[in-house]
Amino acid sequence: MSEAASQAVGIDVGGTKIVALRVTDEGKELARSVRPTPADDMDATLATLVAALGDVSDPDVVAVGVGAAGLVEEGTGVLRFAPNLAWRDAPIAEVVGRAAGTRVIVENDCTAGAYGEYRVGAARGVAHVLYIGVGTGIGGGLILGGSLYRGAHGFAAEVGHIVVEPDGPVCGCGNRGCWETVASGSAITREGRAAARRHAPLAARAGGDPDAVTGHMVVDAARDGDAVARGIVTEVGRRLGEGIAGLVNVLDPATVVVGGGVGGAGDLLLDPARTAFVDAVEAAQYRPAVPIVEAHLGTDSAAIGAALLALEDHR
Ligand SMILES: [Zn+2]
Repeated sequence: MSEAASQAVGIDVGGTKIVALRVTDEGKELARSVRPTPADDMDATLATLVAALGDVSDPDVVAVGVGAAGLVEEGTGVLRFAPNLAWRDAPIAEVVGRAAGTRVIVENDCTAGAYGEYRVGAARGVAHVLYIGVGTGIGGGLILGGSLYRGAHGFAAEVGHIVVEPDGPVCGCGNRGCWETVASGSAITREGRAAARRHAPLAARAGGDPDAVTGHMVVDAARDGDAVARGIVTEVGRRLGEGIAGLVNVLDPATVVVGGGVGGAGDLLLDPARTAFVDAVEAAQYRPAVPIVEAHLGTDSAAIGAALLALEDHR
């Protein structure tokens, strides 16, 4: 098969933006489109997804993969539920398939992210991988024994919705105190806004309005040495590492890869996570070290992974 004949498009549907990438069978980027996700409107979001596909389409594309945050049903390509999007029973494979003219596969975004990192990223060739996508929420993806693990229905690794704090903040899924309410970008945003009420330098980053402070502003302030912001990112990293320890106790992966928008905070987030992980994992001194590493594909893990999965399916 020539290179031209084995291109695929991978689309990552996130809460704030939709990213479509056209890639080679090695995951190399050939074209990119980024469009904002229409807020709270499922039909408009599906239309934007189709438009993003059109932006990067090419006659040589043989397969299309979509990664979406939420419960993607295996076999049907229907997104049953998305905690941080207004989507319920969204027929993604059908709608995108009509536009694509090729078969379309739909995966959970972090399942796709795990596959992307396993094939061409930070966990290349590692047989047992736990991928954690940290953005607005927290998602998970699993490579077990060299294969993607999807569970009985495609809903495996929804790790962000393990309750770690009964009576904690309300989660997008409707429960209280899920892991993602204390260890994700929304936790950084929430704590940053609270801190900005008494810490003017943080509010100043949002034009003086504490409620306009974003997680990115807090991470930037932490990077610039702001002690309050650094404390917030450190605490969220600690909660992240604690949760990873529980998951490593269950799954015994060789590597943990942290991706997603907040994963880009790098060691500011991951160093406290590593420390908390070693403190919390069972018998750290009696087991081989489990590295917690940053995703090599950055925020593109899911789009690239979805494209490569679509090509795999096409063969
Ligand atoms: Zn939840």
